[in-house]
Amino acid sequence: MTATDPARIPEIAAGVRRAFDSGRTRPIAWRLRQLAALEAMLVEREHELAAALHDDLGKSAAEAFVTELSVVRAEAATARRRLRRWLRPRPVRTGLALAPARAWTRYEPLGAVLIIGPWNYPVQLLLAPLVGALAAGDAAVLKPSELAPVTSALLAELLPNHLDREAIAVVEGGAAETQALLAQRWDRIFYTGGGRVARIVARAAAEHLTPTTLELGGKSPVYVDEGVDLAVAARRIAWGKFTNAGQTCVAPDYVLVAPGARDRLVRELGAAIAELYGPDPLESPDYGRIVSRDHFDRLSALLGDGRIAVGGTSDPEGLRLAPTVLVDVDPASPVMQEEIFGPILPVLVTPGPREAIAFVRARPKPLALYTFTGSRRVRRAFARSTSSGALVHGMTLAHLAIGELPFGGVGESGMGAYHGEASLRTFSHERAEAAKPLRPDTLALVYPPIGRAVMRLLRRLLP
Ligand code: NAD
Repeated sequence: MTATDPARIPEIAAGVRRAFDSGRTRPIAWRLRQLAALEAMLVEREHELAAALHDDLGKSAAEAFVTELSVVRAEAATARRRLRRWLRPRPVRTGLALAPARAWTRYEPLGAVLIIGPWNYPVQLLLAPLVGALAAGDAAVLKPSELAPVTSALLAELLPNHLDREAIAVVEGGAAETQALLAQRWDRIFYTGGGRVARIVARAAAEHLTPTTLELGGKSPVYVDEGVDLAVAARRIAWGKFTNAGQTCVAPDYVLVAPGARDRLVRELGAAIAELYGPDPLESPDYGRIVSRDHFDRLSALLGDGRIAVGGTSDPEGLRLAPTVLVDVDPASPVMQEEIFGPILPVLVTPGPREAIAFVRARPKPLALYTFTGSRRVRRAFARSTSSGALVHGMTLAHLAIGELPFGGVGESGMGAYHGEASLRTFSHERAEAAKPLRPDTLALVYPPIGRAVMRLLRRLLP
């Protein structure tokens, strides 16, 4: 990765704004061409992209395909297929008082947008938002994470070769370069990452009254009831947790389980881990590594916050930490205070669903909340009494594959959403339009002076 010279950043921002102002990004034909070019890039460059993801995070080619490349391709393909329909004006009732008149809304592009990506899914989380910007007809600057430097460099090379380089630019670098970008005026800032930097982004955006989408994280809980098939539940929890070595914003962070089921669940988690990654996950080509030494050290320190029931081994040289299940964890300990964002899964006992709900409610609103229960009553109680970006029953992570579900957080887990049509909405302004013929001039009714008879009529017509 070669960081972009911050002195060049104002000119890069001005360049994409000029491209937007020239009108070149507005035609639907331009948007469809860019989306097709993005899809083609992902197909033609699949091997290089997978190799970069392997270098940065130890992802296997299969994992890179399933969790990154195919996700962006599906988003782009859906946007391309549906774009004309999504862009149709939407009629709105005008009401009797204004008749005859028509009203409708229509999506218009916002302008020049800034997309700031994180390191954990460095392709998906930079390019899936880009799909929304392209569909909306915006120009964009993309800032990949410096903590995935090989992927950052590759995207900086590929994107200008495949997309309209006047309208889409890549800036590489870390905090200094991002702050130089944040000093520019944007029409939307789309940020994915942690809450600390999100506050820096929101403060900078306030200077220009720029709307922001903040895709953050947090501790996503899993609730497991006694009566469910614990073998399947454990497989689905282990898969969601240990994909990308736990470095997933919607990964299960911790499990709350009924007392009678804890030991069986822990045994099944151990079996599921062995099934997914073999007897020694540190040797598995399907199991990723921790992104940096700092994160590895932070995670290693958390291992002491409970009794290790599964895993706990590590390879400090290779930054690999085995899938680990912790029991007997104190809710006040660090592993239950911060987002774990690594392959450590605390399993805590809870007396029942009511206490589990109280536990979740006492903490910041998570990005995802998962339940495994056979009881509709319990599912409904979670729906009514908790809040989270998503509420998912019977699986973890896989709800992201439902392209029409908006993806985003609430409260501490973020604001705004994307995926499918929600991406178009995020990167557009939904403009209100209305029209009324000049004849007959029915508006004359409300022009002063308003007589008694007309007033009586108005009371009936107006709410
Ligand atoms: P990160 O370190 O990659 O940082 C995100 C971006 O902020 C990077 O581009 C980085 O260059 C920039 N940045 C870092 N310091 C900065 C500073 N001082 N000023 C300006 N910019 C700065 O990401 P992270 O924060 O380590 O990511 C992990 C977090 O992201 C977790 O909390 C995770 O849950 C969350 N996350 C959320 C989603 C989602 O879609 N909601 C997805 C992935 C990760």
